Amino acid sequence: MKPVQLIWHNGRLKPWQDATVHVGAHALHYGSSVFEGIRVYATPQGAQYFRLADHTERLLLSAKVYDFDIPYSADAINRACEDVVAANGLACAYVRPIAYRAGFTFSLAPSRDVPIELAIIAIEWGSMHGAQALEQGVDVCVSSWNRAAPNTYPTGVKAGGNYLSSQLIAQEAVRAGFAEGIALAPGGLLSEGAGENLFIVRGGRILTPPCGSSILAGITRDSVLTLARDLGIEVVEQILPRELLYFADEVFMTGTAAEVTPVRSVDRKPVGNGKPGAVTRALQQAFFGLFDGTTADTRGWLTPVPAAPHARAGRTDLAMEAA
Ligand code: PMP
Repeated sequence: MKPVQLIWHNGRLKPWQDATVHVGAHALHYGSSVFEGIRVYATPQGAQYFRLADHTERLLLSAKVYDFDIPYSADAINRACEDVVAANGLACAYVRPIAYRAGFTFSLAPSRDVPIELAIIAIEWGSMHGAQALEQGVDVCVSSWNRAAPNTYPTGVKAGGNYLSSQLIAQEAVRAGFAEGIALAPGGLLSEGAGENLFIVRGGRILTPPCGSSILAGITRDSVLTLARDLGIEVVEQILPRELLYFADEVFMTGTAAEVTPVRSVDRKPVGNGKPGAVTRALQQAFFGLFDGTTADTRGWLTPVPAAPHARAGRTDLAMEAA
């Protein structure tokens, strides 16, 4: 991953190397951050955000759970996301807003005096598992690590600390030669990938674990389920046993980073005939079609990135810092 020139940090665009935190920051010790991953696609209408408002809403809901007072409104965060992409001149991007307890304290119940900061990083990043993965599919395994039980910490909140679980799942899988690991929920039923939601196609229907299966309710998951219904494909959200992975005609995973990635084998057993199937292909076409104009954006999911950062009174620091 390559750094870019500018990072948005606490209301200003700063050179990459100047957007730093202190080693005493609460977030570094205890995982107290909430964040998002959002994509900007190059479309025939120029650079467009995909579901920016929905990601910002999830960020603010995650913040609410951990009593973070993010000192910016949803509108301000949306404009800042636009600014950082425009300022770096990115035609397509992966954007990472992160709010974190920046102040120093070893307390586990920090007072509201411990400041919350907000940073937004925008980089160029292709699909998480690579372009070939989108074409041919990936090989995955079921992880020996379970997802967290619902009464431990909430998996539906996108918090930094949750990603220790994801690291264990992904690292174990990669060490064993797989692209990704699929975790079971605490009761032994299917949950999700380290950074993706999970889908099974069987008998023409799409099956996916519900929010109660220790998943993050992905925005790509919602998009793909919506597109599937548009295509007249039946969608069922229900708890699913592990063996359905081996009974499946098709398996695929979704995420902002992973987009719509077919799975060609699970635990070294081929899924279907070992090639991405017709339903996965149709959903890929519908999803990526949003960005080349072949799928109509009937729900206003795409919003333009202005060609230049928003001109604002009092923002002379922006030009100075960029220099
Ligand atoms: N589950 C986990 C654990 C994730 O990290 C992600 C990526 N954010 C997803 C699911 C997919 O969510 P989304 O489609 O909103 O990116």
